[in-house]
Amino acid sequence: MQVYKFGGASVQNADGVSNITSIVRSTVQPLVVVVSAMGKMTNAFEELTRFYFDGKQEQLWEKFAQIVDFHQGIIADLLGGENESEGFNRLQELLSQRLRQAPSLHYDFEYDQVVSFGELFSTSIISDYWQKEALEHQWVDVKTVLKTDDLYRDANVDWELTQSRMQDTFDEAKGRLWLTQGFLGGTRSNLTTTLGREGSDYTAAIIAHTMGAASVSIWKDVPGVLNADPRWYPDAVKLDELSYNEAIELAFYGAQVIHPKTLKPLQNKGIPLYVKSFIAPDNPGTVIADGREGDAGQPIYILKDKQVFLTASPRDFSFIMEDKLLELIAYFSRFRIKMNLMQNSALNFSACFDSNGATEALLDALKSNFVVRYNEGVQLLTIRQYTPGAIDAMTRGREVIDSQITRKVARFVLR
Ligand code: ADP
Ligand code: ASP
Ligand code: MG
Repeated sequence: MQVYKFGGASVQNADGVSNITSIVRSTVQPLVVVVSAMGKMTNAFEELTRFYFDGKQEQLWEKFAQIVDFHQGIIADLLGGENESEGFNRLQELLSQRLRQAPSLHYDFEYDQVVSFGELFSTSIISDYWQKEALEHQWVDVKTVLKTDDLYRDANVDWELTQSRMQDTFDEAKGRLWLTQGFLGGTRSNLTTTLGREGSDYTAAIIAHTMGAASVSIWKDVPGVLNADPRWYPDAVKLDELSYNEAIELAFYGAQVIHPKTLKPLQNKGIPLYVKSFIAPDNPGTVIADGREGDAGQPIYILKDKQVFLTASPRDFSFIMEDKLLELIAYFSRFRIKMNLMQNSALNFSACFDSNGATEALLDALKSNFVVRYNEGVQLLTIRQYTPGAIDAMTRGREVIDSQITRKVARFVLR
């Protein structure tokens, strides 16, 4: 069995859907296909949820209409008429019913119930198209097989239950081609959860792990894993192969091409991950597997924007020892803020982290015991396998407000 994952960019319009259909057609089955919401729809659903939760009726229904129109356009191109997808019509009615009811007080719960329609819409439209194209398959409601706890928006997988549900569903005696949603899961009582933004890669890995699949392929708008994001580094080159550990490091440091949780379940079972281009599907892409050395010596650049760089010093001038470090780290953990870099000296503790809604609250909390200085809107550059030339080229003309250099990795906070 193989598992394929197609992200939003691959199904952003009707041509995209027909392209992934050809890729699926030319693949040996059994095959499980995981698909994300179309294009940038998850962002639109996030706005929809906000309007719903805040009771902004006018904006809510305007956004709803935009989302429906976007999908109707794709349906018209694929199926010959706006109302041709029965699955979509039914789901759209379900969503509008939900939005007509008052939300609960639990934002993260409402978020998952609403945002999940992105993946439900996309897979139901694709399923209707496959049916029209006589591509035999089964549509699977992933929340019935990928079971999680009820930590909405960041759900944890119940591996045992998921394994048995998946083995029952993706049973080679019962089918050869399945189509299901990425990013979503379901609690024991079958309420929808999500696995965190960009979580569809992780879904593919969960399925592969529990099914003991031969491989996972994630299909992207880039030729594979590159040594930098081509959106900011046009000279990026493709890496032909990577070890799991190297790929985990890249994803962890913020290379957005793979969701960081994706690699562990694959590494545990020795399942190779292919990152391939849906634009040039015959090209080899990047393979991530055991024993792959990667392009040793090739510097790899990861840039994280919208960072906050903070320095805290104890008001009582006590040293930053283990107890103070624990106290400081506990603040970040309490506000669920992920530190991307941390450093300390006798009297100062510094950290670089993603700016999010909790930044203000963190700063306020810290100020009672620490003198806090911070810069917002800075960038964090990580260079793996750095060379002096690579550091020079990337930091020239920039103000470096902090740096951390180890044997393999050089990191700079840049303004
Ligand atoms: P998906 O459609 O699967 O959600 P994403 O847009 O999340 O795809 O990921 C693909 C994008 O990741 C690319 O278009 C590219 O801009 C970006 N990216 C960031 N870092 C890298 C990297 N090291 N190699 C390749 N692509 C990268
Ligand atoms: N649609 C979700 C998102 O955009 C999940 C994914 O695409 O991986 O975050
Ligand atoms: Mg994505």
